[in-house]
Amino acid sequence: MPDPSLSYAQERDVALHCTIAAARLCEAVRQDQASVAIHKPDHSPVTVADYGAQALICRSLQAAFPHDPVMGEEDAQLLASPELTECRNRVTEYVCAQLQTPVETETVLDWIGHGRSGFGDRFWTLDPIDGTKGYVRGDQYAVALALIEQGQLQVAAIVAPALPVDSAQPTGDRGVAFVAVRGQGAEAIALGSGARRVLRVNGAAQRDRFRLIESVERDHGTPAWQQAVATAIGLTVPAVQMDSLAKYGSIARGEADLYLRLPSGDSVLRWENIWDHGAGVLVLEEAGGTVTDQTGKPLDFSQGTKLLKNRGIVASNGVIHGAAIEAIRALGID
Ligand code: AMP
Ligand code: MG
Repeated sequence: MPDPSLSYAQERDVALHCTIAAARLCEAVRQDQASVAIHKPDHSPVTVADYGAQALICRSLQAAFPHDPVMGEEDAQLLASPELTECRNRVTEYVCAQLQTPVETETVLDWIGHGRSGFGDRFWTLDPIDGTKGYVRGDQYAVALALIEQGQLQVAAIVAPALPVDSAQPTGDRGVAFVAVRGQGAEAIALGSGARRVLRVNGAAQRDRFRLIESVERDHGTPAWQQAVATAIGLTVPAVQMDSLAKYGSIARGEADLYLRLPSGDSVLRWENIWDHGAGVLVLEEAGGTVTDQTGKPLDFSQGTKLLKNRGIVASNGVIHGAAIEAIRALGID
């Protein structure tokens, strides 16, 4: 019988290495103050770093797993347009610098294009920069990658380059990778020292320290409802706001306990993207937490790029999950 601890070992390693390389590119762009946002047709921002990160990750995935399609956030077609020539050249420069080898712009565009190669029974979902608004603001962001097989999340890597390694020392070392394989647990790796730590959510004994975590961007959820739910279930510690899937990592390492993303009436038709949650869901579940939609249904990753069968997101340490779902129902939030 194969050793279960070895299953998905290559997928885990490749996912971890390529997301860390991509995060280095993102940090280089940010340090050079080159992270100027371009606005996509849907008005969401994209930068040289989003494209560069997608290129590096897709290059690695294509080399290691040539039969696996990838569904990533960024579209190479927009970058190929004549108006974006300068941006395209910058992306190529940063990719070459990370790889320490010359690469043609066409090749970089091909790698980015591989990031929209579609779905399969087995495919990867990629957010080269989740929280681009946070990235441009100088706050948190994350590079996120997950492997989905038959609709099940199997492998996840999230790299949060600006996240303090120890939240008790916010000015100390920064940069954390979160990695998980289904059934094998989740761990955090400090990018600087390489120190590893098994991830475990808070348990009932820490109840008086439980806290809510939510987006910085107020229109990505409904802060008043989120606070009402937290109050209803007795969370008294002030909520923390953080950009990106780093929120899932925060709960996984016991720094927060409940992440609510409750869409309000005027965004009824807004479904969440699979790449904005997949990697976070597996990391948190493997750390002992629970993730569902706001009705308590599991998230369904088999519906294309969107979570079409789900509404809202409730992610928690598990201990308070049932109470949060019940409070959402009792408050009449739909
Ligand atoms: P966060 O930093 O948790 O707010 O998540 C960032 C993600 O929010 C981005 O990757 C977008 O896909 C997503 N997003 C953008 N606009 C909205 C919106 N109006 N409601 C919910 N999510 C959004
Ligand atoms: Mg995103």
